[in-house]
Amino acid sequence: MKVLNDISDVREFRKDSITQSLGFVPTMGALHEGHLSLIKKAKKENDLTIVSIFVNPAQFNNSKDLERYPRIPEKDLALLDTLGVDAVFLPSLECIYPDGFKTYVNVEALSEQLEGASRPGHFKGVCTVVTKLFNMVEADRAYFGQKDAQQLFMIKKMVTDLNINVEVIGCETCREPDGLAMSSRNLLLETEDRQGAPILYRSLTKGKEMIEQGEKKADVIISEMTAMIESEPRAKIDYIAVNDFNTLEAATRLSGEVLISLAVFFGAVRLIDNVVVTVAD
Ligand code: AMP
Repeated sequence: MKVLNDISDVREFRKDSITQSLGFVPTMGALHEGHLSLIKKAKKENDLTIVSIFVNPAQFNNSKDLERYPRIPEKDLALLDTLGVDAVFLPSLECIYPDGFKTYVNVEALSEQLEGASRPGHFKGVCTVVTKLFNMVEADRAYFGQKDAQQLFMIKKMVTDLNINVEVIGCETCREPDGLAMSSRNLLLETEDRQGAPILYRSLTKGKEMIEQGEKKADVIISEMTAMIESEPRAKIDYIAVNDFNTLEAATRLSGEVLISLAVFFGAVRLIDNVVVTVAD
């Protein structure tokens, strides 16, 4: 496995492999099975696979959250090596944001709702770093998790709007046996919070079942899910939302495909999760 630290290393890697298809998995490290599922898919669908690890300060609106974000680079590198990844890109902060950096990418309107409303500036940071990484890596395909549903939606939109030459592929959410969506942030949960956290997926499943049983009103679903999560004393709801899956517009009366998403705090740790449901006619 090649370990690349500079943009020039990445460009050379791509120049040498230009006749081969390249799959790219951008991450912030502290790798878990969710990341590995993206990497395995990339390996299956491409001749070569590259993974990046970069904890991107521009997408954190809270400096404490950035400071506490788990970083285990040696463990990550060993894991990537075992998986047979061809290259890992570990850029420094200066490599991504050199002195005098001034240019940002923002997907208008979409970046201010849901996660964007709770985390101002988050998606501007995400879209900027992903654009930069796409420009450096020049992959054929890039893999993103449905776990971050709005991020996946926005990156697809950005790639279309800016004519970026990469195919964006969404991958389903990997969960722990008790339903909790895998996340690097799960490492930060206190034991009791970890025990309570599966309420998130249980409440999403409840919302999904209600829709499948014919409930068409978003507010009824949100109230039921709110009550369920509030029964867990350590959970503090940031938002629960129901949106049209294909436009991300807020849904009131449900039809087509809908996205139920939520963000909930356990102590200082903010967890997000979602499910997609097809509404029967
Ligand atoms: P992160 O390191 O959290 O920025 O995530 C890197 C990529 O892995 C993103 O595309 C995430 O959506 C994806 N990802 C994170 N958690 C999961 C999961 N539980 N299942 C599938 N993909 C995930």
